[in-house]
Amino acid sequence: MNREKIYLSSPHMGGNELKYIHQAFEQNWIAPLGPNVNGFEEDLKKYLKEDVHVAALSSGTAALHLALILAGVERGDEVLCQSLTFAASANPIVYLGATPVFVDSEEETLNISPGYLEEAIKDRIGKGKKPKALIAVHLYGMPYKVEEVHKVAERYGIPVIEDSAEALGSSYKGQKCGTFGDFAILSFNGNKIITTSGGGALVAKTAQLKEKAVFLATQARDNAPHYQHSEIGYNYRLSNIAAGIGRGQMEVLDAHIAKRREMNAFYRELFSTVNEAIVLNEPENTYFCNHWLTVIKAEENGAFKTDDLRLHLEKNNIESRPLWKPMHLQPVFEDAPFYGNGVAAAAFKKGLCLPSGSNLGEEEKNRISTAIKAYLQ
Ligand SMILES: *Cc1c(COP(=O)(O)O)cnc(C)c1O
Repeated sequence: MNREKIYLSSPHMGGNELKYIHQAFEQNWIAPLGPNVNGFEEDLKKYLKEDVHVAALSSGTAALHLALILAGVERGDEVLCQSLTFAASANPIVYLGATPVFVDSEEETLNISPGYLEEAIKDRIGKGKKPKALIAVHLYGMPYKVEEVHKVAERYGIPVIEDSAEALGSSYKGQKCGTFGDFAILSFNGNKIITTSGGGALVAKTAQLKEKAVFLATQARDNAPHYQHSEIGYNYRLSNIAAGIGRGQMEVLDAHIAKRREMNAFYRELFSTVNEAIVLNEPENTYFCNHWLTVIKAEENGAFKTDDLRLHLEKNNIESRPLWKPMHLQPVFEDAPFYGNGVAAAAFKKGLCLPSGSNLGEEEKNRISTAIKAYLQ
């Protein structure tokens, strides 16, 4: 098979990224600060539209780490976290010496179940410890049940960290994902909806919290002519070169989301006659999903096996991938508490992510559709 590989989601440049990088070179801003960093933060703030403050960082994982610190998480604390997610959502909890408490998903969006969330909170409080924070994820760009989840968190006074790494451009009731939580994080890794080759951002509600994040991200240096430190710091700021890529990417973000949504519509059409598989879609028209990745779910005990489809696509040099393996099933988290009834585990068993990049054209779509139709027959 010498035809070019079709990837799940690959970088898609808009064209102006190099312009911003050239400016950085011309002005010798080859550093983790400079006009592109400030410009990128401003672009993100304008895009999110709400009264938020954005700190550009070296990764989404770094942003989560700082969000947890700013939420007051310390050694020995417990932090609630959606189980069905990428490990980066949960790892920073452990960096801080805290314990993740994993919560199952609901069927409609595959994100954190408000019911099990409340059960987990009550049980942890009963055992003597109120969780310090909640990490809720808009998986594959699909908004979680924002109102229900936040209502539960508010009832118990638990701050919400919104993991919006996959959901830039998604919204719920017209409000952008990344603006609902006490903190939110974004990721610009290579396979995300926009990329800076590697990068992330923390979204905070006040200018003071943003400043504190930038302070911690630049080695926590006190205000003195010499290097003076009263706190432990990190090297987490985004470089001015990477931020230049980000500025170019922001110019094409909405166009790229439109393309990803077209890919989702393409799969819905393709699977419309297949009773045993459904394409995950917005449960109501109050949800707007960027469809970072399109997900199909096979019916339980049906003849349609997503893993067979995956292997068939692989033979055709087309990448597809199982859903994230839930954190409570990961060897590294086997001792962490979990609340749920198996929705996340079933989604992992029955789900598949299909190529969804904004750079897939007619030729790629034809190859995908031919391969899937051949499999279905
Ligand atoms: C990508 C991702 C992250 C981490 O972002 P990085 O920039 O890769 O560190 C966190 N959470 C989720 C759900 C992600 O998909």
